[in-house]
Amino acid sequence: MSSEEQAATPAAAAPRRGGGIDLGAWKGVWVNIELERGRVHPVSWELLGEGRKLADHLGVPLSGVVLGPGEPATDDACVEAFRHGADTVYVVRHPVLAHYRTDPYTQVLTELVQRHRPEILLLGATTLGRDLAGAVATTLGTGLTADCTELRIDDETRSLAATRPTFGGTLLCTIHTLEYRPQMATVRPRVMAMPARDAQRSGTVVAEEVALSEDDVITKILSYIPDADADKAQLAYADVVVAGGRGMGKPENFRLVRELAEVLGAEYGGSRPVAQAGWVSGDRQIGQTGKTIRPKLYIAAGISGAIQHRVGVEGADVIIAINTDPKAPIFEFATYAVVGDALQILPALTEALRERIHRRAVA
Ligand SMILES: Cc1cc2nc3c(=O)[nH]c(=O)nc-3n(C[C@H](O)[C@H](O)[C@H](O)COP(=O)(O)OP(=O)(O)OC[C@H]3O[C@@H](n4cnc5c(N)ncnc54)[C@H](O)[C@@H]3O)c2cc1C
Repeated sequence: MSSEEQAATPAAAAPRRGGGIDLGAWKGVWVNIELERGRVHPVSWELLGEGRKLADHLGVPLSGVVLGPGEPATDDACVEAFRHGADTVYVVRHPVLAHYRTDPYTQVLTELVQRHRPEILLLGATTLGRDLAGAVATTLGTGLTADCTELRIDDETRSLAATRPTFGGTLLCTIHTLEYRPQMATVRPRVMAMPARDAQRSGTVVAEEVALSEDDVITKILSYIPDADADKAQLAYADVVVAGGRGMGKPENFRLVRELAEVLGAEYGGSRPVAQAGWVSGDRQIGQTGKTIRPKLYIAAGISGAIQHRVGVEGADVIIAINTDPKAPIFEFATYAVVGDALQILPALTEALRERIHRRAVA
């Protein structure tokens, strides 16, 4: 397809302001399966779990979209998409899609949407997903609600009710795209629960052709330099997380948080003020503007529990909060409240656990 045609296609199909599009012609829920360097980002499965609920409520199929170069990982992604709830997977295999680049990925996803007209399109709010979602929504001329915390169907309008924090996280607003399709939304990793994987489940693979040419892509990938800080993604998916806040007093005291994390085999993180002060790196900030976590156990030391922190941790199974202030807001949602000085409690806990591990090892 020439670049002139590319520009003409979306504009021709884009719904005009003021509505007038046949909403009934748009059916089905789609989830972008984010495949990069042979690995699917787990947020894709979380979105299939949510997409399944939306599709069942609407009585329509749930589909995944897999874009990739056609290596075994592309096929594996299709199989896994069925196991996590998809009925159909639309797959485009093309060497130009070997690595994510905005232009070809936007072209392909836009063309697939125009061909099959899903009413809802969900993407992960990852670096890649945010980029792709914005580009696709702009090209299609439709609405996109970013960083949603809840997705449901409004029965009256049959529209997607996409809820997200606003006004600095102090309010939640629900956004509907009533006159344009598809209704697009992104969701951050770990905000939605991981659905149960059914190894027996399968579905239909629909192989799609899209005319792509490397010559039309102006962005070239010359080399790939992996991030040296390879532990970045692990905080969001860790089973146990220990975090410290301003109540830790000073940066040197943060060692106590890291030591407890180490003995528990856990990840560590911090509230926004300590990340901003450099006590922990920015990628370890937990909360609305940091990572959302869903560990089995979350230990929060010297963290007050402001709403922007709470939204990032309330998916944890068990929360142990250590705070000197018995009225600290974190105690309103913690499973166990420990009123006391974290500077004394953390080292005592670390020591007790070390002792226990040692006794087990020699027994
Ligand atoms: C748009 C926006 C986005 C934000 N995003 C985030 C976010 O992603 N993540 C986030 O965390 N915050 C975020 N915030 C900031 C948030 O509002 C709070 O200011 C922040 O979470 C407070 O951090 P804290 O609990 O470490 O500090 P504080 O609120 O100062 O709390 C410190 C706590 O430590 C306790 N304490 C003091 N000494 C001890 C001790 N020795 N032992 C035990 N406890 C002690 C105190 O009683 C107090 O409860 C955001 C704010 C805005 C406006």
